[in-house]
Amino acid sequence: MDLSLSSDDIAFEREIKQFFEIHFAPATRRALQMSTDVYPDLELLRDWYLALYERGWAAPNWPREFGGTGWSPMQRYLYAKACAQADVPKPTSGVNMLGPLLIRFGTQAQKAFYLPRILSGEDYWCQGYSEPGSGSDLASLQTRADRDGEHYVVNGTKIWTTHAHYANKMFALVRTQPQGSGKRQEGISFLLIDMDSPGVSVRPIHTISGDHEVNQVFLDDVRVPVDHLVGEEGQGWSYGKYLLEFERGGSIWSPRLRHELAGILKAIEQGPRRADVARAELLQRASVISVDLDALEMLELEVLNEQLKGKSPGSAAPILKLRFSQLKQQVCTLGLDAAGMEAMAWLGQRPFYEDPHFELVSPHYVTRSSAYLSSRAFTIFAGSSEVQHEILAKQMLNL
Ligand SMILES: Cc1cc2nc3c(=O)[nH]c(=O)nc-3n(C[C@H](O)[C@H](O)[C@H](O)COP(=O)(O)OP(=O)(O)OC[C@H]3O[C@@H](n4cnc5c(N)ncnc54)[C@H](O)[C@@H]3O)c2cc1C
Repeated sequence: MDLSLSSDDIAFEREIKQFFEIHFAPATRRALQMSTDVYPDLELLRDWYLALYERGWAAPNWPREFGGTGWSPMQRYLYAKACAQADVPKPTSGVNMLGPLLIRFGTQAQKAFYLPRILSGEDYWCQGYSEPGSGSDLASLQTRADRDGEHYVVNGTKIWTTHAHYANKMFALVRTQPQGSGKRQEGISFLLIDMDSPGVSVRPIHTISGDHEVNQVFLDDVRVPVDHLVGEEGQGWSYGKYLLEFERGGSIWSPRLRHELAGILKAIEQGPRRADVARAELLQRASVISVDLDALEMLELEVLNEQLKGKSPGSAAPILKLRFSQLKQQVCTLGLDAAGMEAMAWLGQRPFYEDPHFELVSPHYVTRSSAYLSSRAFTIFAGSSEVQHEILAKQMLNL
């Protein structure tokens, strides 16, 4: 793959940076630099999503005919890199995951209704897959959707639902036929649920990092119109899996991790005095991570190239998920070790950016223990590392 930049690419990079300088407010940047959760607070970002929408850049990964950018792999990569360097957040799960699914499997009416609302930020989606007892073993899910005239009546509970407290919509896997003697994946359907429907309630879960990012969602006799079904009834498992390809392999992580690593290297240089041998050990770990990031970057570029030909991330998705989550943890562990005793300064308040005294201490160090704890979730969400290994083994052994 040719990685040299053309003059058009260089002009494009300049255009992105200029746009960020004008529209990405410094206060938002400061808040995001201090956020340790995976997806930052929505309230910080509404204006930003609108600015992207108006510029036509809300969905870097969608085809132009549906309001996407239609960018080349190199342009998408340059954009992701500029986002990482400016601390601009990744696109929402509506853009990254649901959009590609609706583009492939949605009805014309669903595409016409939902896609523009995802782009404009009017709809903010959460993902209702996991249930208590049904995470890795997702096919055992129990939430029922029983047909009643022109509605499904949904009963059950979803857990670990990221940003359900902000979302006005949820895409969910539900059981439209009871589990029978056949395959457990049969009888599962893919439904779009309005979070303001009567019977939906959200209970916060505070994670070990101190953040409120995930929730438990209860669905009690929630009436969902039948035209909120995506694809065929009972075939939701295959749509759910297709969406997971984008969750696991649809983001570009290497520039983001490299930016985080660069911040840690700067902190090692400027931070507390330490013995030469301790410093050398940190730098040696950083250089190993850096080489691994090069490899991740190459793989991400390959996958981008394939996506341009209309392919989904496919069999590369579990490898990408494994590697970005492992490297994220290595970067955050390095950051914690580089901060040393200063990382022990634990601020109970969340979000950090609302603390008026925050500027008095080094932001880099104070967020480190929370960032480290938050990074533990990376090898769990979107399918744990063990599950990714199992999928890879099945692919390799043709099982
Ligand atoms: C921060 C965070 C955000 C999340 N956001 C969402 C969300 O928005 N929507 C959503 O639907 N879900 C979400 N999840 C849930 C996530 O997908 C599940 O936590 C994950 O799939 C693991 O399921 P579990 O928690 O039930 O653990 P379990 O499945 O019970 O796994 C426990 C342990 O057993 C191991 N294990 C399980 N099965 C096997 C096997 N076959 N072979 C070897 N080892 C195995 C696992 O790797 C893990 O170490 C989120 C999770 C986290 C932590």
